[in-house]
Amino acid sequence: MAKVETVTGPVDAGELGFTLIHEHLRCHDEAVWAQWPSRMTIKDEEPYGVAGDGYDEAVVAANRALELEVKTIVDPTAMFLGRDVEFMRRASEETGLQVVPCTGIYTYDHLPQFFASRSPEQIAELFIADIEEGIQGTEIKAAFIKCAADEPGLTENVEKVHRAAAKASVATGAPIMAHSHPASGTGPKQVAIFEEEGVDLSKVQIAHTGDTDDLDYIEGLLDKGVFIGLDRYGIEMYLPFEKRQKTTLALLERGHVERMFLSADSCGTLDWFPPEALPELAKAGMTKDWDIRIVPEQVIPGLREGGMTDEQLETMTVHNPVAWLTGSRHAHNGR
Ligand SMILES: [Zn+2]
Repeated sequence: MAKVETVTGPVDAGELGFTLIHEHLRCHDEAVWAQWPSRMTIKDEEPYGVAGDGYDEAVVAANRALELEVKTIVDPTAMFLGRDVEFMRRASEETGLQVVPCTGIYTYDHLPQFFASRSPEQIAELFIADIEEGIQGTEIKAAFIKCAADEPGLTENVEKVHRAAAKASVATGAPIMAHSHPASGTGPKQVAIFEEEGVDLSKVQIAHTGDTDDLDYIEGLLDKGVFIGLDRYGIEMYLPFEKRQKTTLALLERGHVERMFLSADSCGTLDWFPPEALPELAKAGMTKDWDIRIVPEQVIPGLREGGMTDEQLETMTVHNPVAWLTGSRHAHNGR
């Protein structure tokens, strides 16, 4: 039976159950937090009403997911998003939510000098160590590799991180999740790099593909055999909810169910904005119900009304995570 690494150790792939493929327990910049720790206390009064390092909010988010029968989240919090596997393990142990951690670098361009002066092969060695030995001095192993391309496109640094991710995937067999920016057309360029490096494209997930409703663009990616993330439900500024739903239903109708993931890219806490800004974004309609609950509470009922079958739902939320993470579609107990 194939195993999947979680922050509480490896589990049988069949134990993942209902999985949200892209949710963060906490996102903060590790450099800023390390340099100005006293200023980084999260002071959000609403909706969680707790101050601290984001731990209470992570627990709240995990419990909200569990109450809606989510068993596992895949948490792509990598370098520059404040990855801290002990923090994730604590939240997972306290709540019982299974959390699948990653290695990788989340950057749209900037790299520290440490990486600027190192080759993709040398960067890949770090990823491989996280996958094979453990992360941050723990025995917690990375289950997948994260990289990102956004509005600046495939800059020299971003390409370097993609090549490092690719080399680590080829060396270990670990899958890749690549943050993409459909509005800048990054997806096909990211796939081209992976292809050039010899990555098995069935191990690649192009995250945030659901930020567009351009079916030609999306099917162009699917033709390559990659998975796609329809994974930012609630972030209205990139694509409103109803358009996301229409796109998902159209893709189901066109037979792509075995390559699709549903998620929200929610964060228990996020330090990208001053505390007052997130509620303002919601007020301005840039986000709406952007929360770990949105897929079970709103997306799934809506898709059902639109004709999604139970089998399609199970494929997207139970079987596809196993297929992407292990390379084997039917890793279920006794089947
Ligand atoms: Zn994310």
